[in-house]
Amino acid sequence: MNPLSSFLFPKAFSLLKVLLRPPPFPSEGDIIMGPHVSKTQWCSTIPTLATTNASMVSLSTFTEWSPPAAVAAALSKKITLEELPKDDKDKTAFSTLSIRSNSSGDRRSRSISAKSRSNSSPRNNIGPIGVVGLRNIGNTCFMNSILQCLSNTSPLLDYFTQENYQGEINKLTSTMRGSLARAYGDLLDKLWRPSQRTPVDTTAFKDQIARFAPRFIGYSQQDAQEFLRYLLQGLHEDLNRIPAKPNPILTDIDPSLSDSAKAAESWRRYLRYENSPVLDIFVGQLKSTLKCSACGHCSVTFDPFWDLSLPIPSPPSKHCPTPLTSCFDLFSREENLEEKFNCDKCKTKRNCSKRLAIQKFPKILVIHLKRFSLEGRSRGKINALVDYPLYGLDLSRLASNKLPGENLVYNLYGVSIHSGSICSGHYIAYCRHPYTGEWHCFNDSRVTAVPPTAIVSSDGYVLFYEQVSVATKASATST
Ligand SMILES: [Zn+2]
Repeated sequence: MNPLSSFLFPKAFSLLKVLLRPPPFPSEGDIIMGPHVSKTQWCSTIPTLATTNASMVSLSTFTEWSPPAAVAAALSKKITLEELPKDDKDKTAFSTLSIRSNSSGDRRSRSISAKSRSNSSPRNNIGPIGVVGLRNIGNTCFMNSILQCLSNTSPLLDYFTQENYQGEINKLTSTMRGSLARAYGDLLDKLWRPSQRTPVDTTAFKDQIARFAPRFIGYSQQDAQEFLRYLLQGLHEDLNRIPAKPNPILTDIDPSLSDSAKAAESWRRYLRYENSPVLDIFVGQLKSTLKCSACGHCSVTFDPFWDLSLPIPSPPSKHCPTPLTSCFDLFSREENLEEKFNCDKCKTKRNCSKRLAIQKFPKILVIHLKRFSLEGRSRGKINALVDYPLYGLDLSRLASNKLPGENLVYNLYGVSIHSGSICSGHYIAYCRHPYTGEWHCFNDSRVTAVPPTAIVSSDGYVLFYEQVSVATKASATST
């Protein structure tokens, strides 16, 4: 009997998909853990199970791959596990674990059922759930790279695997009538199915994205960041909560309002048209300030953004890495505009300077490094090593106004890597598993474990950062 089948979980228990976490990393043992337990609740009490039900979970190697110590310490306080009675006589009995999380008041006690055979070792070549490759169906590495980064995006994964998103599909205004969201949900379902061990075919999904954005018809190499934008836009449309487009508001926002009131009004107006779970996750708000060079008068505008495209400054020396913060500095620095703009105060066109700041920070911040230039003599790819931090990217200095208690710290969980030149190249992805914290390299159908030290690369192209929740940070620092 295929040993994998002993760990297949019935669809009925998909509410608690169970994480199997054995070789290739630990030399023995499987981890069972519900993905609904957030990664920040990774639990060091699990090993106690090893002694009570060795046939099901053998966790002697747990410590080899536990998450950063501070998190693990915080988490050990948050979860208790208890084993429920099990029929030892039945060799194929269901073993049931109950994971009870004390972390957030209303978190339900959850049950996991695992079909395990007491006479067969759970040690086999099962990888962690979700660590599955995607077939290359013809120059689709750009797509696979982005799909893996999105697959490891916790809030989006949670949405598509836990909620009844099909009931939220917008069938009235979306051009795709939900078929892109359904195709994406089906793809995620395959990627995160505990039984899925072979690379997943993306043909059905690709057909839908090509219907939405005909540029993706055929099999030519495409830009990963452009693909990401189209995909998020398509998912957003399919899940837009606005059933019918409202009449536009034609009046300007009252210039006498404070900047933050203008920002709030601008955001409110945006949400009249655009409002979806995808937007909730990815969209932030940029503030751009135009300053009159004659009178110093400032006018502000606020625009939503789905990602930030950062320029890469010239490094001080060829072998010096460029800190990511230098890219942000260049992005947000005041620049003089060549074009003249009408100054509200001078009542005439004036030279102006422009400055960008972030008014509203998204949960997931996507950073696109502008490595490719298509213009004139500078056409080509910038191969500078941008040193992007894995943990603790603090964007406070980009905030137009930081609210008290607001946490503007981000951790990296995904990188789309482009190797090669502007003309030809290959995409892969490095992703941090949302539940184990382990990094993997997703190279189309091949997936390998990689150490955190391998993640920063001069080929890093699109970076995926997740905002550190205040609660997590508080609990991690209090221990
Ligand atoms: Zn002026």
